[in-house]
Amino acid sequence: MPTYRAPVDDALFLLNDVFHFDRYGNLPGFADASPDTVEAILGEAAKFSEEVLTPLNRVGDKEGCTRHADGSVTTPKGFKQAYKQLVDGGWVGISAPAEYGGQGLPTTLTGMVMEFMCSANMAFAMYPGLTQGATAALAAHGSDALKKIYLPKMVSGEWTGTMNLTEPHCGTDLGLLRTKAAPQPDGSYKITGTKIFISAGEHDLAENIVHLVLARIEGAPEGTKGISLFVVPKIFPKDDGSLGERNAVACGSLEEKMGIHGNSTCVMNYDGATGWLIGEANRGLHAMFTMMNEARMGVGIQGLALSEVAYQNAAAYAKERLQGRSLSGGKYKDKPADPIIVHPDLRRTLLTIKAFNEAARALVTWTALQGDVAHRSGDDKQRQAADDHMGLLTPVIKGVLTDGGFANSVMAQQVFGGHGYIAEHGMEQFVRDARIAQIYEGANGIQALDLVGRKLGKDGGRAMMAFFNEVSGYIKERSGSEAMKPYVTPLSAALGHLQQASMWFMQNAMGKPDNAGAGATDYMHLFGLVALGYMWCRIAEAAQAKLPKANGSSPRYSAKLVTARFFMERMLPETATHLARIQAGAASTMESPDEAF
Ligand SMILES: Cc1cc2nc3c(=O)[nH]c(=O)nc-3n(C[C@H](O)[C@H](O)[C@H](O)COP(=O)(O)OP(=O)(O)OC[C@H]3O[C@@H](n4cnc5c(N)ncnc54)[C@H](O)[C@@H]3O)c2cc1C
Repeated sequence: MPTYRAPVDDALFLLNDVFHFDRYGNLPGFADASPDTVEAILGEAAKFSEEVLTPLNRVGDKEGCTRHADGSVTTPKGFKQAYKQLVDGGWVGISAPAEYGGQGLPTTLTGMVMEFMCSANMAFAMYPGLTQGATAALAAHGSDALKKIYLPKMVSGEWTGTMNLTEPHCGTDLGLLRTKAAPQPDGSYKITGTKIFISAGEHDLAENIVHLVLARIEGAPEGTKGISLFVVPKIFPKDDGSLGERNAVACGSLEEKMGIHGNSTCVMNYDGATGWLIGEANRGLHAMFTMMNEARMGVGIQGLALSEVAYQNAAAYAKERLQGRSLSGGKYKDKPADPIIVHPDLRRTLLTIKAFNEAARALVTWTALQGDVAHRSGDDKQRQAADDHMGLLTPVIKGVLTDGGFANSVMAQQVFGGHGYIAEHGMEQFVRDARIAQIYEGANGIQALDLVGRKLGKDGGRAMMAFFNEVSGYIKERSGSEAMKPYVTPLSAALGHLQQASMWFMQNAMGKPDNAGAGATDYMHLFGLVALGYMWCRIAEAAQAKLPKANGSSPRYSAKLVTARFFMERMLPETATHLARIQAGAASTMESPDEAF
């Protein structure tokens, strides 16, 4: 049976020592997040994840969800009780506005709590995760009347939320969307159409489900400019907040799928279901993007979470499993063989995952803090800079952390040899669960295109330049530091590769967009490596500052420095390969006719 320990200490180190959380104290909600409170929240989230959610992960995978003849869906044994505990603990609304019953705490904390819950049980964590995204979209774009009816119940977790974009013939290209919305005299709409792959579309965890649905109002333009967003409740709320009649929306079937079996993935049939417009007509994609950006960060966190739990189990196994002797002579002479952790190739595997995870957690924390600034600062300039950062880093976090999440889960599975392929150890479940994060919320190829096609050139390249300036400014300030040299020197080379790649796109992709398309995934990973490398510099600097206080000897901070060096020496050099691939252009990729494939 796999185990999980939430990395509370690492989260606190990032907040307190790397990013100086206390400096954000002037933002609304941060004053309530004193160091003691933060420690208590993360401690409780860890306990809930380790003790309640982890034991249900295998149960959820084996049992899956069940659809009954009447269209209702039952979640795996234990999910309902765990969800009640989640709601009773107020976890769904920890960062939601206080006026709707939330605790208004920084979203940075929600991100950390979500990492713990996803490591413990990703399929379960998706239910509140989707609700948080739907809440954000309604709060940002809904009318006061809609907010008053729906938000308090969603923030408490009594009702859950969904996002309904995908249809059988359209996923990435939402311009092809066919679901219709017919205006009614009372201002509502009748929604008709079929949505597929809808996560948490139907289940037994909450008394009501609030669907956010993309549809085309009759007569609206074709393509993405004619799409609107609607709120469609499963059960109509009455004026007093109690529940009334069923709406004409039902789960037609459940998808059978590779992983996340504990989460219901539904075909949803809308048969003239009543819905209400969120935001302006034909601006639905704009409103939905609020939810999707939140969700993309959340999916990036899922990648990190799976990588973390897979790592923890692989590291434990590598210390127990006895096979062969160390190349440099037996290390555990009292045993019939050495534990496999002595073998350099195993250590390379484990360090590759560890170096990724700890920097990825830092990148999520840094970006989530910027998200809090973007939403809470009273200073226009600060807000804009933070928003730029979020826009630029969101596709990187989604794409790079989920590609890494899957690759690392596979590497961790490899540590178990054949036992990793056997269900008992749970490693094959991590691999199966991690896979979806590369696909949904915009497949990773689309994240790469978003980064290259939209985010780089946006506002004259303002966000990209700010990122380059931040990293190059950091390197410059530490150029005289011997202690930081092993970290900032490789980062400087990697940043140079990223700048060359950006310049190459500017010169070679404007007139030939295939050059951008063919190099986009490499660019996203090149960007990700630089961002993770920058995080390792910040972590190493914070660890160096802590060491003297620990009398120069602390296994924890020394491990940070070694891992930082491993990242710089063994992982960051991949930026050169990505640059070479980008600069090769699209010619060999595009030359063959379609029939040649
Ligand atoms: C388990 C699960 C849960 C899901 N949950 C939800 C949910 O809650 N709500 C919801 O609305 N949807 C959900 N989805 C749908 C998911 O978001 C889509 O599957 C995803 O966005 C991709 O769409 P598609 O499957 O139609 O693939 P397609 O759009 O057909 O894409 C196929 C491939 O082509 C690539 N591609 C497509 N267009 C381009 C292009 N222009 N340039 C380059 N490459 C391109 C894609 O990257 C992809 O690799 C879920 C899916 C699954 C499997």
